[in-house]
Amino acid sequence: MARKKAVADEIAAEVVEVSTNETGTKEIIIERKNEETAEQKQEELNIAQKLLSLYNLQQVDSQIDRIVVERGELPNEVRDLEDAIEGLKTRIANYEQDIKEIHSKLLAETAKIEEAQALIKRYEEQQQNVRNNREYESLTKEIEYQNLEIQLAEKNKGKCQAAIDEKNMAIKGGKVVKENRDGEKEEKVIKGFEEQVNELNEILVQKQSELEGILAETEEKEKALRAQADVYKEKIEPRLLAAFERIRKNARNGLAIVQIERDACGGCFSTIPPQRQLDIRLHKKIIVCEACGRIFIDKQLVEDQKKQLEGEQDAQSAEEK
Ligand SMILES: [Zn+2]
Repeated sequence: MARKKAVADEIAAEVVEVSTNETGTKEIIIERKNEETAEQKQEELNIAQKLLSLYNLQQVDSQIDRIVVERGELPNEVRDLEDAIEGLKTRIANYEQDIKEIHSKLLAETAKIEEAQALIKRYEEQQQNVRNNREYESLTKEIEYQNLEIQLAEKNKGKCQAAIDEKNMAIKGGKVVKENRDGEKEEKVIKGFEEQVNELNEILVQKQSELEGILAETEEKEKALRAQADVYKEKIEPRLLAAFERIRKNARNGLAIVQIERDACGGCFSTIPPQRQLDIRLHKKIIVCEACGRIFIDKQLVEDQKKQLEGEQDAQSAEEK
């Protein structure tokens, strides 16, 4: 509410130069109306023009809003899917790099085993030609040591292989048997990253084609509307435009300028007192809804513009005939 009040104050403050009589009663307004100077008339025309520019911009903005609503969440959904797929692909690449590194460790352990086996073979041959017991015992110790080395390397190999299997399972998916809390074996199917990528890709392709379809239908129209909106924006002074955009952003229905409908604000439906309604009709200054901060435009201004446009079109088509 405080923010809406601030917007209202800002617009009101801007309008002070137009009508210094903020709390002016009916009499004063009528009095002034009777002796309006050329300057005041010009000011009034300016306010009417400002309101109509805002109104016209609002019509275009609302059409753009409808297109954006029609497109809905699709652009976000497509972006989220692309991000998710990208993330999975990065994980696959990282896991594959890990597997490569673990595999070279595994190969190193295999080499250690072969080396140890070769040494054992050599020591056993040497044992055939020993000169005494001490030499024989010493070789036996060496063989024992190499056997321990082999055991350790086998254990390391097993760990490497388990790590590789686990990473492969994460990538490719498959069935795993795990013990549950009761010690019973349970088979679990794990969905691998690759399958997840494929599934997301399928959804992505579908969403993308939906989005492309909507874009093809609405892109040209939206472009034209945005260009039209820019033309209207040019005609509105920056401060007023900024206020308009701010109100629009905060309004749930995207309406920043509204008419009075059945004595109530066309945006938030709060009742407008008769005096305020009269002020709005006189459009001597820009008046905003005290409840929601939306700018009011009187019906007559809109009607007049409509008639004028129709008149111009009739004249044009008469000329063409
Ligand atoms: Zn309102």
